[in-house]
Amino acid sequence: MITAPLRLRLDGDALVSNWRTLAAMSGTAACGAAVKANGYGLGARDVVQRLAGAGCRDFFVATWREAMALADLGVSVSVLHGLREEDVAVALSAATARPVLNTVEQVRRWRDAGGGACDVMVDTGMNRLGIEPGDVAAGLLDGLAVETLLSHLASADEDVPLNRTQRDRFAALQGKSGARRMSLANSAGIALGADYGFDLTRPGVALYGAVPVAAFAGRVRQVVAPEVQVLQRRRVPAGQGVGYNMTWTAAADTEVAIVNLGYADGYLRCFSGKGRAWADGHALPVIGRVSMDLTALDVGAAPGLAEGDWVAIDYALPAAAALSGMSQYELLTGLGARFDRIWY
Ligand SMILES: *Cc1c(COP(=O)(O)O)cnc(C)c1O
Repeated sequence: MITAPLRLRLDGDALVSNWRTLAAMSGTAACGAAVKANGYGLGARDVVQRLAGAGCRDFFVATWREAMALADLGVSVSVLHGLREEDVAVALSAATARPVLNTVEQVRRWRDAGGGACDVMVDTGMNRLGIEPGDVAAGLLDGLAVETLLSHLASADEDVPLNRTQRDRFAALQGKSGARRMSLANSAGIALGADYGFDLTRPGVALYGAVPVAAFAGRVRQVVAPEVQVLQRRRVPAGQGVGYNMTWTAAADTEVAIVNLGYADGYLRCFSGKGRAWADGHALPVIGRVSMDLTALDVGAAPGLAEGDWVAIDYALPAAAALSGMSQYELLTGLGARFDRIWY
């Protein structure tokens, strides 16, 4: 197949190292992996194969289509968005995937369909998905084969009393739901301490190199490195502008490279006039407005950089988030389908 003029270099050792770090921080709890949204943009199948090889046994996706795309890998997959009427047939026939039932209606639907092992989400204060703790006490789950009881923290990346409140509400269900295991913590939740780990943690973003809380700084390694090809190099005379609406004007004659990257690839317009690329250790500022498929760089610092050469986009997640105003989650999951994804 023809190669693309933009690629993600993906560090498989860093991915596995991040999972091992999070597994160690999870203490006695097993450590799973959230691989929804195509493995946060990296490629779910490659992520699953690498993490399964390292010993990860529990994977989480959002939808049944995401689960089906992993079906032949033979790993245990929990489908966080549960069981719509449209999902029942696929869910019943799935060998290794099971629904995370989120509502009374979904519980009823799974029971009526004669479904087997399932997970259940309880809402302990986020008011997003999940049945009420009182539903558990009232016997809603009686007789159901619940593998894992889950809840999700709303503000795990902040030091707020709600974390403790949610943790305590969840702990109060211990031994009451008939579930074989309990799972509360996402990436940031793991850093809240051992009493947030329960039996199973489910990190996502930190596996992929993000640093949602300071506890991960220096411990979690960057996994993603976008690289893009120069399509044209030109000299822009002093006084002329570059790109849509001429938002940048050359103060002096300026060497400019146009690279194959734009907002349709997830490099959003918030990087206009702010982002940066690197070539041989030289910083190359983004100038003017990011277009759909193209970005202009001031390459005065890289005299040898020519058409066809590759440059590295500055995408260190915490810094890129601070610079762009995007979250580290958005920086990862926005990485588009046009990148070649190359693991090394
Ligand atoms: C996305 C998600 C996770 C992973 O969260 P991170 O913040 O990326 O670690 C865990 N649990 C649920 C229910 C999720 O939706």
